[in-house]
Amino acid sequence: MATFKEFRNNVKPNWCPGCGDFSVQAAIQRAAAAVGLEPEQLAVISGIGCSGRISGYINAYGLHGIHGRALPIAQGVKLANRELTVIASGGDGDGFAIGMGHTVHAIRRNLDITYIVMDNQIYGLTKGQTSPRSAEGFKTKSTPEGSIENTLSPLEIALSAGATFVAQSFSSDIKQLTSLIEAGIKHKGFSFINVFSPCVTFNKINTYDWFKEHIVNLEQFPDYDPTSRVAAMNKIMETGGMLTGLIYQDRERQSYEELVPGFKEAALAKQDLTLSRDNFDKL
Ligand code: SF4
Ligand code: MG
Repeated sequence: MATFKEFRNNVKPNWCPGCGDFSVQAAIQRAAAAVGLEPEQLAVISGIGCSGRISGYINAYGLHGIHGRALPIAQGVKLANRELTVIASGGDGDGFAIGMGHTVHAIRRNLDITYIVMDNQIYGLTKGQTSPRSAEGFKTKSTPEGSIENTLSPLEIALSAGATFVAQSFSSDIKQLTSLIEAGIKHKGFSFINVFSPCVTFNKINTYDWFKEHIVNLEQFPDYDPTSRVAAMNKIMETGGMLTGLIYQDRERQSYEELVPGFKEAALAKQDLTLSRDNFDKL
């Protein structure tokens, strides 16, 4: 069985020292090993943004796609080779601005993939512009007088779109993040995991200390029932979207794959997509 070290490659990330995305990379590697995957059984598909580089830093199949399009590609990969465990990843600009249409429809489609958003509440790669997740009043080069737009709530949107798995974590809490990614991979259906992943270079407001002060861990509510959609929506709204942990899971609803007659039996792709180490090593 592969250890998390086998999901490392020799590519050195060019993220800024201290970027939250390092922990997300490590958590994916640990979760993949913990659920018993081999590198050739995993595909990581990413969009554009600093966070989009993550697919190149994990020893697995991967594709660094185009802006906002991680999810269409990831869904195509899953449909072409249903034996693969597929993780889609990107940032808040990628997934909640240009890619929001895909995000909502992928959630309601409920294919068995895991979507991890590295939410730093800014556009980092393009050197610090206001994103849909930036707070009202947030000042950047693109909103020098402060943003006058409402801040988007991805958790509320995911629940409204019919998500069957909604979780949120913080890159500093790698233990929680790893266990949520493990749970997301095991969940039969679309798993949405939003991760507060600070941009230490351009976002001087939503820092590690700021998140530590504002995050509300669901562990504080031992009676919380993550199978209740109403309880989930209430708790999201009560905490201003700052809660972390497993917020909602519907284990009953069938995934897209389960609802398509013959999907499990039929080969959707004609080429040999056998998940063997030999095929993987040829790449
Ligand atoms: Fe991370 Fe921000 Fe640096 Fe991008 S600019 S690598 S998001 S710290
Ligand atoms: Mg961002």
